[in-house]
Amino acid sequence: MNDTIGALTRTVRGRVIDGSDPDYDDARAVYNAMHDRRPLAVVRCTDSADVMAVVAAARDTRVPLAVRGGGHSVPGFGTVDDGLVIDMSPMNGVRVDPARKVARVGGGATWGDVDHATYPFGLAAPGGVVSTTGVAGLTLGGGIGYLTRSAGLSIDNLLSADVVLADGRQVTASDYHNEELFWALRGGGGNFGVVTSFEFRLHQVGDVVGGPLFYDVDDATAVLQCYRSYIEEAPESLGCFFGWQIAPRLPFIPENRVGELFCVLVTCWNGPHEEAERVLRPLRDVAEVQAEQVASMPFPALQSAFDDLVPKGMQNYWKADFTSELTDEAIAAHVEHGKRTPSVHSSMHLHAINGAAQRVGADETAFGHRDKSFSPVIVGMWPDPADNEANTTWVRDYYAAIHPHSDGEGGYINFMSGDDDHRAAANYGANYERLSAVKAAYDPDNLFHVNQNITPVKGM
Ligand SMILES: Cc1cc2nc3c(=O)[nH]c(=O)nc-3n(C[C@H](O)[C@H](O)[C@H](O)COP(=O)(O)OP(=O)(O)OC[C@H]3O[C@@H](n4cnc5c(N)ncnc54)[C@H](O)[C@@H]3O)c2cc1C
Repeated sequence: MNDTIGALTRTVRGRVIDGSDPDYDDARAVYNAMHDRRPLAVVRCTDSADVMAVVAAARDTRVPLAVRGGGHSVPGFGTVDDGLVIDMSPMNGVRVDPARKVARVGGGATWGDVDHATYPFGLAAPGGVVSTTGVAGLTLGGGIGYLTRSAGLSIDNLLSADVVLADGRQVTASDYHNEELFWALRGGGGNFGVVTSFEFRLHQVGDVVGGPLFYDVDDATAVLQCYRSYIEEAPESLGCFFGWQIAPRLPFIPENRVGELFCVLVTCWNGPHEEAERVLRPLRDVAEVQAEQVASMPFPALQSAFDDLVPKGMQNYWKADFTSELTDEAIAAHVEHGKRTPSVHSSMHLHAINGAAQRVGADETAFGHRDKSFSPVIVGMWPDPADNEANTTWVRDYYAAIHPHSDGEGGYINFMSGDDDHRAAANYGANYERLSAVKAAYDPDNLFHVNQNITPVKGM
């Protein structure tokens, strides 16, 4: 293997970082500190040629291959023991074409990179709710965020992707080229190759009115019931998710309430600013707002507002489902377990995926759960490994309580933990068989297997 790493060092333009490099520990670290893996080398790729070289090296030497975009995968799919890691982070360039309202985004960009580049044009691509997350992993799994109700999932705005395949070729996938691959990339995760660049449709998004409204936990049932009905009918320019939040020390939190658990609605209104108060009124009227930071702000400011609460290097254990109906019983289960939220970094986020996201047909993309209206994710995040058992137990108990009220086994592939691999087929839903066939066509030997893996099955 030393020969291979030596050859890669001579071939690629990016850095090849192996165990002898003083930066090795930094290079191998991923977002979730629970994964302390030791790859043979991390290759920081600078262009498609670098990516092709590493793909060929992994294929020819039969060592495991991991592909890292933003590194946020909770199961640690951006690294692997005794294998090669393609680290896409140097490929983070973004080119905006304001006339066509399109952006070309490098396969290692974060959403912060995209927002930074698009905001000056008054444009945005639909991403998530945190700026440090990778565009690649988030998009390939679907992409749920502030703009989902008005503009759809991230994949619904993907126009094309350049992909380095297992056989070493780079191809373009779009509605006009490699159509079946393009279908599979939109929800099928990192199973089909390394995306070196994405082309996104952009939307008119400049300054939004948004931010969190904090309520007493005793009002959580009423707030959840209000959210359930309002988010179905509210104007689609409103993005909003429910969550639990232990109040951090922030200027808008009363000093005597720092450290107290609240429930929150995080809002993002991308309509006319003079209509914001009218649109948010039902959310203000449901219960007394105890603290808030709703204001007019640049969209990138909202998308990075929570970055400090979710830093790299925490212990992470998450569980997730989809649900088409948020019943009173489900709400009771949320309230019972949400009240025990153990850490300022932990929460349950209840995302709404209606509106534009539901106007895309169930089989138009590989995203398996178009009919589901809500995507709950229990986010366990804490600093000290000594607290692992208590925190994972909270996530598991919470999940056990809400799961009977969810729709079957399937959840959002991007919100899974490492012990959720057995759920992969259910997570891809009715699209799994077709995905298996595309996998067999493009990656028959499963070179790209460090992901929510799809088994290649020929002739389906
Ligand atoms: C703090 C935080 C906030 C989040 N918020 C949201 C949110 O608002 N909405 C949402 O939908 N999700 C959200 N997620 C989940 C997120 O979508 C997933 O964790 C996603 O996998 C992250 O992508 P990444 O590129 O950062 O991760 P990585 O760990 O780099 O990669 C994740 C997967 O994608 C593959 N991959 C990465 N880059 C490429 C590439 N260039 N080509 C092919 N495959 C690639 C990897 O192999 C791996 O299987 C959040 C996660 C975290 C930790």
